[in-house]
Amino acid sequence: MIVTTEDPQHWIRDVVPPGEKRHIQYPISETYQGNNLELPVTIINGEYDGPWLFLSAAIHGDELNGVKVLQKAATRYQPDELHGGLICLHVLNVPGFIAHQRTIPIYDQDLNRAFPGNADGTTAARIAHEIYQRFITHCDIGIDFHTSTRNRTTLFHVRANTDDKRVERLALSFGANIIISGAGSRGMLRKEATDDGVPTIVVEMGKAHRFQSWLIEEALSGIESVMNEYGLLPDREVRWPGWFRVIEATTEKKWIRADNGGLVDMTWGPYPFVYEDDVICKISGHFDQEKNEVRAPFTGLLVGILENPVAVPGHPVCHLVRTDRSTKREIEAEIRRGEFLGYRER
Ligand SMILES: [Zn+2]
Repeated sequence: MIVTTEDPQHWIRDVVPPGEKRHIQYPISETYQGNNLELPVTIINGEYDGPWLFLSAAIHGDELNGVKVLQKAATRYQPDELHGGLICLHVLNVPGFIAHQRTIPIYDQDLNRAFPGNADGTTAARIAHEIYQRFITHCDIGIDFHTSTRNRTTLFHVRANTDDKRVERLALSFGANIIISGAGSRGMLRKEATDDGVPTIVVEMGKAHRFQSWLIEEALSGIESVMNEYGLLPDREVRWPGWFRVIEATTEKKWIRADNGGLVDMTWGPYPFVYEDDVICKISGHFDQEKNEVRAPFTGLLVGILENPVAVPGHPVCHLVRTDRSTKREIEAEIRRGEFLGYRER
């Protein structure tokens, strides 16, 4: 086990001098057999000075789209073009990734509630501490990639505390069409890093347990846009989506839940935008009796939806975010132009 004692700045420079790129298996914890559990890390130290960006994936071990994004980003960029540096933390929750599950499989600990970590704490706190001290504190900005929880899917969007101007700049430069603004909870990597002076955003994209190529390409474009905005790649063309929206944390957003058990037929669509009182889904029994309709309590975007088509009372069926009047008009215009980015490939 590597114990973090020295200045991380020097450690990274010693291991990967300017102008070099290294793939490292970094010991992050140990197995029951006492062997190292290793976090795959790519460090690209640019030939020129500039800011450092971290990219991280699979802090929830079954959220895989980001893992593919990082594999591609780590391959794509070379030290001779970079002003600053790039750290790709390919799989943060190594034990969860091995077990195909969201949490660390030891007492179900959520690694994304354990930051900045504690060297004497729980398994999650120790892993978080090692990652945080070794890599995160070295960086100036960060992007943490997630997907929905299994059996659901989510629209491509950014979560960020846009009340913080430094975070707002990062969120806008990523260029996602939807930003949901909020501070986040204690222990989340994005909140703790941001509070500590490393503005960090989360990207939510699609489903767990899958590689969704069109979302992965969107994310890679977003990373390149961020690298251009912050001067890591000063000579690139910036991709700009042309339009985006920030949905404030104060805007009403809620998981709508089933009131009865049964088989779920989704009826919304083709776009994940519903008007007040629209039927979102119907829940019926096995003999096709009693179709219970779930209706939209307000006009808004379906940011998350259930994919596993069965429910019991209390089961979340969709995550609806209220849209104000101007956002509603923008979305309607985009739908008419065929530009609205929904759940399907454009
Ligand atoms: Zn997640």
